[in-house]
Amino acid sequence: MKKRDVLKSAEPHYDKNEVLELELAIDTAITAHEGQKRRSGEEYVAHPLNVANTLIEWGMDIDTVIAGVLHDTVEDTELTLEKIESSFGHDVAFLVDGVTKVGQARAGMRDIDSYLPSTRDNLSKLLIAVGQDLRVIIIKLADRLHNLQTLEHMPRDKQLKIARESLEVFAPMADRLGMGRVRMQMEELAFSFLEPKEFRRLRKIMKDRLGKSHRKLAVVRKEFSEELTRQGITHEMDGRVKSIYSLKRKLEKTDDNIDDIYDLIALRIIVEDQETCYRVLGMLHSQYQPMLGRIKDYIAAPKPNGYQSLHTTVITPTKQVVEFQVRTRKMHEYAERGLAASFHYHEQKQAKDYKKKRGTSTLPAQLQWISQMQEVADKLSEGDEVAFDELKVDLFDQRIFVYSPKGDIYNLPQGALPLDFAYLVHSDIGKHAYSFRINGNIAPFDRKLHNGDVIEVVTRKLSLPRQAWMDLVTTVHARNKLRAQLKQLGIIETLTSASAIIRDKAVRKARKSIK
Ligand code: MN
Repeated sequence: MKKRDVLKSAEPHYDKNEVLELELAIDTAITAHEGQKRRSGEEYVAHPLNVANTLIEWGMDIDTVIAGVLHDTVEDTELTLEKIESSFGHDVAFLVDGVTKVGQARAGMRDIDSYLPSTRDNLSKLLIAVGQDLRVIIIKLADRLHNLQTLEHMPRDKQLKIARESLEVFAPMADRLGMGRVRMQMEELAFSFLEPKEFRRLRKIMKDRLGKSHRKLAVVRKEFSEELTRQGITHEMDGRVKSIYSLKRKLEKTDDNIDDIYDLIALRIIVEDQETCYRVLGMLHSQYQPMLGRIKDYIAAPKPNGYQSLHTTVITPTKQVVEFQVRTRKMHEYAERGLAASFHYHEQKQAKDYKKKRGTSTLPAQLQWISQMQEVADKLSEGDEVAFDELKVDLFDQRIFVYSPKGDIYNLPQGALPLDFAYLVHSDIGKHAYSFRINGNIAPFDRKLHNGDVIEVVTRKLSLPRQAWMDLVTTVHARNKLRAQLKQLGIIETLTSASAIIRDKAVRKARKSIK
């Protein structure tokens, strides 16, 4: 990647002054990294330029792109944060600082279970950096993606470490942010380095399979596209091939029987609005025979990361099994780019709102976890006590959606308990919780919540929190609120950090044994 390539991809999307600023940043990076080489023998600066180019492709705002150009300078060169701030402003400097901190934190986090103060300190840095601005993580994802793309030049042990870390931390992070395409790219690359033989075997299986069905599929695609046109429905249709890594995961579930996998290839239909999505679904079901149990309405009930689409698998008259995915352009954008789509240069206003209010109020329901994380980051930066090791769990666990009786949606980690819900709704509701009704039935305090549960919290003014509740909450949010209330009521003494950690550890163990 060269300076002129980056400028060329930037020109159509940013105004003249922004492109000039980008050019200045590139020149600054070239000077700063002068003489440094990557393992491939390339000039080092090719790496940050690649990262910046990816950020342009993702449609990020200019500050993020510039921070991408400069992301390794503070760590690896003479350039200082002060210099960056005076040349490129506070936002760029803040982002570069965040990326640098995340890098340092990851390096110190090899043993996430150890309670050494340095680990703790690093984790705090990480969370503060992330919590204050999600664009830091988006830059970090672009950085990691390029490192994976150039992993072949690394020694084997480094390859394994980076690939594993990508699968365990970065791909789930991308998924959590709804960045489906990045997640897939990372998984594919990481898997190909972790298990090269298995990767090649599956790729061959896939190729053989697809060869057989490609032509038949083209017939179905043409036939249905023509039908849509006849009905006056403006649409785009393309085929998406399942990734090798998700094939592997699927095969593990189906006892290695590839015949049980119907979505090796799916036809994706993009239409103008939500109403048309349902109309197209109806057309599919009247033209072909739908397979029962394989119709999924992710529009009415989005996936926890915000993914929306209608999925259905149908059988054609020629006995071809085909999965269709129907969505609007906007849903498609989100499925591919996720949260990054909110920073799109076309949505500058939204991005500005985000920066001003730190976005939590403008984030969709499925991304509530972000505001919870930011809350924790605030506490950390103020030096407050938090159950820090729980954060990893909150962040990477699967999420569920539950509802209040009024139909408001709340997003919680899997394994959450009724009190977690109560505290999420309001700390006073948690405080005075007396009993719970889930889907209309009285439920005990230790009933695990499931996706789609409707939860009613019965409160009584005189009912107050008890010490034992500490074992009946699982989220950081609920735990912190409850602990504060218990302290206030004089029910527990202020816990020292050591005993807080021991107790959290014990609770976690107890919870595991319940699962
Ligand atoms: Mn880098």
